[in-house]
Amino acid sequence: MMNKVLFGIDIGGTTVKCGLFTLNGELLEKSEIPTDKQDNGSRILSDVAAHIRNILEKRCLTVSDVAGVGIGVPGAVTPDGIVNKCVNLGWDIKDVAKEMQTFLPVFVKVGNDANMAALGEFWKGSAKGYQSVMLVTVGTGVGGGLIIDGKPVAGVHGAAAEIGHLPIVEGEQEACNCGKKGCLEQAASATGIVRVAKRILAAAETESVLRNIDNLTAKDVFDAAQAGDALAVQTAEMVCEYLGRGLACVAAVVDPECFLIGGGVSKAGKYFTDLIGKYYQKHAFHPSRGTKIVTAQLGNDAGMYGAAKLAADNIKNGAE
Ligand SMILES: [Zn+2]
Repeated sequence: MMNKVLFGIDIGGTTVKCGLFTLNGELLEKSEIPTDKQDNGSRILSDVAAHIRNILEKRCLTVSDVAGVGIGVPGAVTPDGIVNKCVNLGWDIKDVAKEMQTFLPVFVKVGNDANMAALGEFWKGSAKGYQSVMLVTVGTGVGGGLIIDGKPVAGVHGAAAEIGHLPIVEGEQEACNCGKKGCLEQAASATGIVRVAKRILAAAETESVLRNIDNLTAKDVFDAAQAGDALAVQTAEMVCEYLGRGLACVAAVVDPECFLIGGGVSKAGKYFTDLIGKYYQKHAFHPSRGTKIVTAQLGNDAGMYGAAKLAADNIKNGAE
């Protein structure tokens, strides 16, 4: 008798990542399919189901060998699994688990992608061994996932831990993607970092290697900062002060054991986490100033791991 398997699915704006796992969280294989956003993303779930069936067939498994499917989506998900608009996928309000089950009759559980990434890091990555952890992903946007007592916290509207939309950037005149002005991600996402750099370059008269780079990226800014370029350092300091302040706000509410920094910009590594830590300590309430800030380990696979873990944690007793 074959042991049962789990699928961890991470639906992103361009690709869907799919992991096949044992119940203990060993990754057996991973694959990707493109996200078909046409017709309001109406084919995404049937595409995922077809992909899962292909993997099962290839391994001589059937749907009855699947203990559960966990799905991470880039949007707010309420505790009962209702997705409240995924703008990136073209989805409105949707019961994703229920719809998925019409294509694949298995146990399905749905969560927010950043919460899934936090859960993945908690299960198999750099938050292993902690019971409470806040993951901040610094990439296209600034996302957040919160684990308390070993469980992801969704919030009543599915918006818990959405640290990217903390209103902490003063004097911002442009609007965030969410419509507000002054959200953390306006200064600290990959595009936000470039925007801050361009403003600093425009206001300064001194030279900077950043002035000679076409299509400036956040990576360029952090590379130049680590090489000592003064205006790049100024940008990095400003960005990390906003992030550090954001973490201080989180600590004031939930006081986690550990902060994890993930997302593309976290490739700047210790330079980045140390600089965030410098400002975190400046802004945090004194009892929580010593909280560790570390780089996440699982990279783009974290969401898959966490989605599989979410399914594993919610499989009802008796369903095996
Ligand atoms: Zn916002």
